[in-house]
Amino acid sequence: MKNKHLQNTKACGPVSLSGPAFAESRVGDSAAGLASLLTAWYHKAKRDLPWRDTTDPYTILVSELMLQQTQVGTVIPYFQRFMARFPTVQALAAADLQEVLRLWAGLGYYRRARHLHNAAKYVVTSYNGVFPSTVAGLLELPGVGRYTAGAVASIAFGQAEPVVDGNVMRVLARVTNLDANISLTQTKRNLWELAARHVPAAAPGDYNQALMELGATVCRPRNPQCPLCPVGRICGAFAHGTQNVLPIKSAKAKPATVHRRVFVLRHQDRVLLVQRPKGCTWEELWEFPAWPGAKAPGRAEITRELGAGLGLQVTLVRRAGRVEHQLTHRSLAYEVYCGQVTGPVATVRLPPCESGTYVAHRWVRPGALDHLPVARMTHKIAAVALAQE
Ligand code: SF4
Repeated sequence: MKNKHLQNTKACGPVSLSGPAFAESRVGDSAAGLASLLTAWYHKAKRDLPWRDTTDPYTILVSELMLQQTQVGTVIPYFQRFMARFPTVQALAAADLQEVLRLWAGLGYYRRARHLHNAAKYVVTSYNGVFPSTVAGLLELPGVGRYTAGAVASIAFGQAEPVVDGNVMRVLARVTNLDANISLTQTKRNLWELAARHVPAAAPGDYNQALMELGATVCRPRNPQCPLCPVGRICGAFAHGTQNVLPIKSAKAKPATVHRRVFVLRHQDRVLLVQRPKGCTWEELWEFPAWPGAKAPGRAEITRELGAGLGLQVTLVRRAGRVEHQLTHRSLAYEVYCGQVTGPVATVRLPPCESGTYVAHRWVRPGALDHLPVARMTHKIAAVALAQE
């Protein structure tokens, strides 16, 4: 896939990193220069973040998992609360999963919390609480992939291991003026090789963090700050004016919209929550019961639905509004209904959800949502439903 801006590049054209012709770029001749420029800049310009300036592998693992798909500003308060409650790998290993999920609630991608909990248990039971220091050892931990293993190995243990995430791919693609689609597996493989060749033996953790920091703060996806960039003088994209068209990526498919009806049902001063099963999005989190469907035709049908789905007799059903939420691969559109349970509540039936059946239910005061593992979507629904009472 050729970019027309790149095709027009004349002198010293773009680098091809495909197949056996995987070429060294101008940065290949300046690997030491790239490392020293980046590391020197990093020591002066790095942001003051609570997981910086430590070589504790547990702290680094927690921060790296939280930072996946999540912005730094969002992560900071979650990280601080999490580390205050679980300051050591032993403390996390001994914790109840529901409490781990509660502290993660709102951060999204809850599988990370589960993996982190399992990884802590693995380190405690298989390594007596001492983290393995090699990429191979770290890859044994649940939820730890090549990127996270490289980050922990290089930052905590000074191993000359590469890291390649979205920020690093963008920086490397631009520095090398890369004319290849970074969405392709082969290109990613080549970028890992390129990154591995450039990790310095001295302070590899600082170098890796510098690459990521550059991508987050200077070589941003839009409007990269080339005149201020510490590696501007060896950057192929800056030299050829291609920084705003690189990296080349496949277009993302528009996420499908999932329509659901969700019910906030009151009995006295409590509302009904149900727990999602394992193996689905938001697994084991609590939420208001919901099932497929857009806006229902009327109150009578909704009442029948609730009787059939939950085994509850409900009156005063009203539509409270609509809540939308964006996940990575789909958009959610929930029609929110409120109702008052008038019959017995002891015989709640657990209805199906999109992957299986809800596994438990409980009646809670609305304020308890702040103390349970619930997704941000559930808070949004509560805000719509309860604001009108
Ligand atoms: Fe990115 Fe520009 Fe720096 Fe090159 S010079 S690495 S394109 S910010």
